[in-house]
Parts: sequence; C-alpha cells; structure tokens
Amino acid sequence: MPPPEAPDPTFDRINRRLDELQASEPRLSQVAGYYRALAGLFHGALPLSEPKVESLAQRQATLGGGQSLLPQVKIVFAPEPARQFFGQVARLVSTFQPGAAQVLAALDDHRLDPLPPLADLAHGDPLEVEALCESAGVAPLTLRVLLEYSLRPTLRAWATGLLQGLDLSGWQKPACPVCGNLPLLAEWDPAARRRSLRCAICGAGWPFPVTRCPGCGNSDPTSQGMLSFDGDERTFAQTCRVCQVCVKTIVTSEPIPHDLLSLEDLLSVDLDQGCQERGYRRVAGPISSPPV
Ligand SMILES: [Zn+2]
Ligand SMILES: [Zn+2]
Repeated sequence: MPPPEAPDPTFDRINRRLDELQASEPRLSQVAGYYRALAGLFHGALPLSEPKVESLAQRQATLGGGQSLLPQVKIVFAPEPARQFFGQVARLVSTFQPGAAQVLAALDDHRLDPLPPLADLAHGDPLEVEALCESAGVAPLTLRVLLEYSLRPTLRAWATGLLQGLDLSGWQKPACPVCGNLPLLAEWDPAARRRSLRCAICGAGWPFPVTRCPGCGNSDPTSQGMLSFDGDERTFAQTCRVCQVCVKTIVTSEPIPHDLLSLEDLLSVDLDQGCQERGYRRVAGPISSPPV
C-alpha cells in the first residue's frame, strides 16, 4: 500500500475556495474546474531544477543592492523532464482551451522545442515567441501561458528557497524581490494594517507601504484615491493621479495561494473596467489568459 500523502494546508485551502465558488456561482463551474485541474497538476509536480541558494548574508546583500535574487542565478533544466512537464501542461490545458491542441500537435511533429523559451522566461530574458510561434503554427498567448504554467512549480520552489530567512522590510520596491516581475495585485490585511504586493509568476509576496504608489513612488494622499463597487467589501483599487496607475487590492488576513492569484484577479474584472473607464492602467496586466 502506498504511504499516505502528507497533508498540504495550501492545497486544501485551494480546493475549499473552489468548492465555495462552485456552490455560490454555478456560472463559474467550468472556470473553477480549470483551476482545480491546474492546482492538482502543480501539487504533484517536482521542480525542473533544484534551487541553489546562496547564504542568507549574500542574498540579503543582493537585495540591499537593489537587485532581485533570481536573475542573479542560472537555472539549468533537466531537458527531458522539462519537455515532458510542458507536454503534460499542454495536454491538460487543451481539454479547456482548444488553442493548446495546436501546441500539442507542434510537439508531436517536433516543430516546437519548449526548452529555449522556458530558459528565457525563467531568466527574465526577452521572450521572442513570435518567430517560434510562426514556425510552429501556434498562438503566442497560448504558448506564453503554457510556458508560465510549466515553470510555476520550479519558480515557486526557487522563491521559497531564496526567501527563506530573509528580511524584506528594506526592499519596498514595486518589482518582485525574487524574479523581478511587476506585481499582479496587492493584499491588504486590515487587522495588521499591512499591504503586500504579490507576484503571480513566482508567487512571492513582499511588504509595500500602503501610502505609496507602486507605479511612481508618489506618497501624497491628496493625489491618490480608492475605487470600489457597492457591495464588494473584498476588493478595491488604489489609484494614483500622478502616473494614472491603479493597484487592485484584495482584503485578506492570509496570503492568497499562488495557484489562485489569477483566478481572484479574474473574479473582479468589473473593477478593471471601472478603472480603465476612468483612465487608469494596472501596474502589470494579468499574466494568464482567462480560461475557456
Ligand atoms: Zn516573482
Ligand atoms: Zn503613481
């Protein structure tokens, strides 16, 4: 008999949230099913490269010098497991998004090797998918989403390792201290009166002063505002009239699981429209295309 799996409170929390959504909003059933399938795949996936973590003092010095941690490290993938996991991701996504079937066909015909773009994305190098997509006959957005999903368990493992023991209070930059990407959204913990920014690429979260605009650094309260919809006490946007940036913010006492970040973002698409109509843009756009 196989040994029982160790309990995973984050995975349980993801499933509880998806159960809750399916029960309260039946129209989101298919979307919830998609996120449940993805979370299941990520849950059982091993990182494609084991994190190499420098000493705490070295990592703290890198951050102190204003540099994110991951671009300083070279991630070397095991080629076959990386290709296999990319194929697994494409197969799962193709059951929800027909566009992913073209990627599967390109893999089968050896018209697409996911390894070079995976490495580019992991290192924050410019992702030149246009030419690749043209020769492989696949849509750039679909490929981008599949690459991001394929990297997720790896970047999450690296983020966990690299952040271990670090004091992030001195960082206070809008870019992710791990991978350098811009945050998808912010979390506001009212009891602790603390705002954290969240990166959807690697899952990291870091404190950022609630009075400061992540778009331009403006801290003047007279040029900042708040936008929310009646009846939604869970989500609001902080706006800045200096740079016209808005930050979607979710009220929560504990960090949102990485695998639910883009879903929580998707659930408040009305707020995005409201911000857009008033001339505001997001710090970073959603990273993944909405499912189905
Ligand atoms: Zn990140
Ligand atoms: Zn601003």
